[in-house]
Amino acid sequence: MRYALLDRGDRLSRELADQFHDMAEARGMVRDDKSPRIVVSIGGDGTLLQAFHRYRDQVSKVGFVGVHTGHLGFYADWKINELPELVELMSSTEPTTVSYPLLKVEIVTNGGTSTYLALNEFTLKSVVGTLVAQLNINDEPFEMFRGDGIVVSTPSGSTGYNKSVNGAIIHPHLEAMQIAEIASINNRVYRTLGSSFILPKHHHCDIVTDPEASLAVGIDHLILQFREVRSIICSVAEDKVHFARYRPFPFWNRVRDAFIGFDENDRESARKRPR
Ligand code: NAP
Repeated sequence: MRYALLDRGDRLSRELADQFHDMAEARGMVRDDKSPRIVVSIGGDGTLLQAFHRYRDQVSKVGFVGVHTGHLGFYADWKINELPELVELMSSTEPTTVSYPLLKVEIVTNGGTSTYLALNEFTLKSVVGTLVAQLNINDEPFEMFRGDGIVVSTPSGSTGYNKSVNGAIIHPHLEAMQIAEIASINNRVYRTLGSSFILPKHHHCDIVTDPEASLAVGIDHLILQFREVRSIICSVAEDKVHFARYRPFPFWNRVRDAFIGFDENDRESARKRPR
């Protein structure tokens, strides 16, 4: 079993990484940073985003596993005290693969086209002043956006930035992308839809801005600056990200535990409640 490991860089994560390597070696697993079969991230969801971008060129071939050093995350489902169990399962069993959609972002400038894959989302903001952007859906004009920015998220990213701007949470088995506004200007002159909207896989959204504008483009945790952008094309990517599951990790349980809170007493009282 060839694996690679990326940790958050803090003391606890580094210590856990050392422990993982020792246990993995004892179980005959081989560390292979160049072409791993499983990529383990130790830290949080943010660390798994970094691991994804480090191995994005091999995204169709690797399976990701996340260990969380704090609360359970959306991508990081193993707790630190479960590290020995994880190593044992990795060395002895074949995981189930769960695949989630990714977002493809093509940024067309006078100098050529740059293509990115996002696991959570793409964000567009103006470096200076209000962002002004024409949104076209499937090559038809849709709306003229004025405001702080636009978030285009994957289903698994819908619990991240998208949720903070009132986007809906989408189950990652749906192949879709969601477009949400950040503080749009809406009055008698300027008008946008005002709610987030969800496009299926075979649709695309083009965002056209003033070519003179300086743009801040976010791809997950990465921020890039662009000028002379002619258009930005967003669509659901052909490639998917794969997670190696050694036990079930239901999405709606994660949503409940992260945003609503739940413990075993809640489960007991739900059972006793008349139906
Ligand atoms: P960060 O600013 O250090 O942390 C952002 C928080 O988002 C962390 O608590 C992280 O969890 C959590 N997170 C990451 N992906 C998530 C997901 N799919 N669902 C729910 N929570 C998620 O930045 P970072 O750790 O490098 O992560 C970058 C992400 O932060 C972006 O992709 C974006 O989704 C999110 N973000 C949110 C806002 C906002 O809500 N206003 C603003 C900027 C960025 P962990 O603690 O487990 O790492």
